[in-house]
Amino acid sequence: MTFEIYQPLYILAAFFFIFGLKSMSSPATARRGVFSAELGMLIAVVSTLMRHEVISYEWIIIGLLVGTVIGIPIAVLMPMTAVPQRTAISQACGALASALIGTAEFYKGQHGFTVGALMLETLLGFLTVTASVMAWGKLQEFLPGRPITFKGQNIVNLGVLGVAVAFAVAMVVSPANSFLYPYFVGLALIFGVLLIIPIGGADMPTVIALLNSYSGLSSCAMGFALDNKLLIIAGALDGSSGFILSIIMCRAMNRSFTNVLFGGFGQVQTSAGKQEARPVRSASPEEAAGILADSRSVVIIPGYGMAVAQAQHKIRELHDVLTKRGVDVKFAIHPVAGRMPGHMNVLLAEADVPYDKLIEMEDINGEMAMTDVSLIVGANDIVNPAAENDPKSPIAGMPILDAYKSRTVMVIKRGMSPGFAGIDNELYYMDKTLMLFGDAKSFVASLVKEVGANHD
Ligand code: NDP
Repeated sequence: MTFEIYQPLYILAAFFFIFGLKSMSSPATARRGVFSAELGMLIAVVSTLMRHEVISYEWIIIGLLVGTVIGIPIAVLMPMTAVPQRTAISQACGALASALIGTAEFYKGQHGFTVGALMLETLLGFLTVTASVMAWGKLQEFLPGRPITFKGQNIVNLGVLGVAVAFAVAMVVSPANSFLYPYFVGLALIFGVLLIIPIGGADMPTVIALLNSYSGLSSCAMGFALDNKLLIIAGALDGSSGFILSIIMCRAMNRSFTNVLFGGFGQVQTSAGKQEARPVRSASPEEAAGILADSRSVVIIPGYGMAVAQAQHKIRELHDVLTKRGVDVKFAIHPVAGRMPGHMNVLLAEADVPYDKLIEMEDINGEMAMTDVSLIVGANDIVNPAAENDPKSPIAGMPILDAYKSRTVMVIKRGMSPGFAGIDNELYYMDKTLMLFGDAKSFVASLVKEVGANHD
């Protein structure tokens, strides 16, 4: 075997990928992690282009240009709240690329083990394409978000998958069965659609993490088919991290995989109608600012509404004016606050909130009873005591931030609408709770103004 320069470069790229993933596990080093992974990818692409198998640089350049022209506006124009859908669509593109490469390799007339690896790769690749497009459609609300279920659904789904696997086995056993390939691809594409329709739109972020894992495994299988070690390593990293992430998300919602995949969770939203008009206490920005300015400790609990309102910069200003006044301000981060993992961390980091002020749920809950004010900004389910008190609640067992234990609770939201789980929140009706009705960004801006005015 002759020495090729790309071999050590692939090892270097793999090192940067692993280092990148490791660094992404803490907000303080996450930026470095992204940079490291980008560098790894650059090395991987450049060293692959140096390989003698590359036959058409012209087509590669055209592909690069088209990708850049599409990619840059998506990255620049897309709002933060649309990140889950963007991830879904880029995943569909990645899976399509890997499935098409697998198809090209298959028609080169491979044998034995290689065909087995290609079958696994193209099955995962093609099903991920349609499943990701469906996930995107549900998140973007082009498709109905509610779960679509029918009798015998699981049997139909397993049947389609079973026939696809049988075709794959037939093609591995004998090249004479290659004529089955287009039918195999059709079944994989149909299975992707069937996999997603029974899942509610709201569970799509978890599903996307799982699909990410599938497309990683598909690349890994392609690595075996092409004897490309870097693809094996990168695919395995992608496959396992996507899988771990979906497990973490399920755990944080106290749901099992089976419940997410077959549970039809979005259906509970129909029961939201039982909200009768119960009295709540509300307060003006002046009143709320007075209480905040006079407290010793404030825990800010951000949620999906903060992301919708893009209130993170105003929240950072509130942190600054309160801290200047001597108030101890911390941020409590729930693992599934918002609509994607790390949603709050990303937004607060964008607003330059110091990392050491972001405290994870397990660490801050012990402090909540000693906290003067919990200021909830556009969060709902993640502070809903029903998770602890009502075993019949759809969120029963989900770990929550114990805002109800603090001396005063303030909730910024526009009205009494429920959150993602579609259920009422007892917290709003407690004697110590003050509802601060309004858009998160403009309400927090008024608080900043009032606290600042009091201070001067
Ligand atoms: P929720 O969806 O429970 O609540 C958000 C609240 O924000 C709503 O009640 C809404 O009330 C309020 N809101 C919306 N827009 C604004 C605005 N402009 N200004 C002020 N308030 C606003 O969010 P949480 O973050 O508390 O919980 C996240 C939920 O998402 C959990 O149930 C979790 O399981 C789920 N989930 C999270 C995932 C993740 O990875 N993070 C993935 C999948 C699901 P109103 O309309 O009255 O203003």
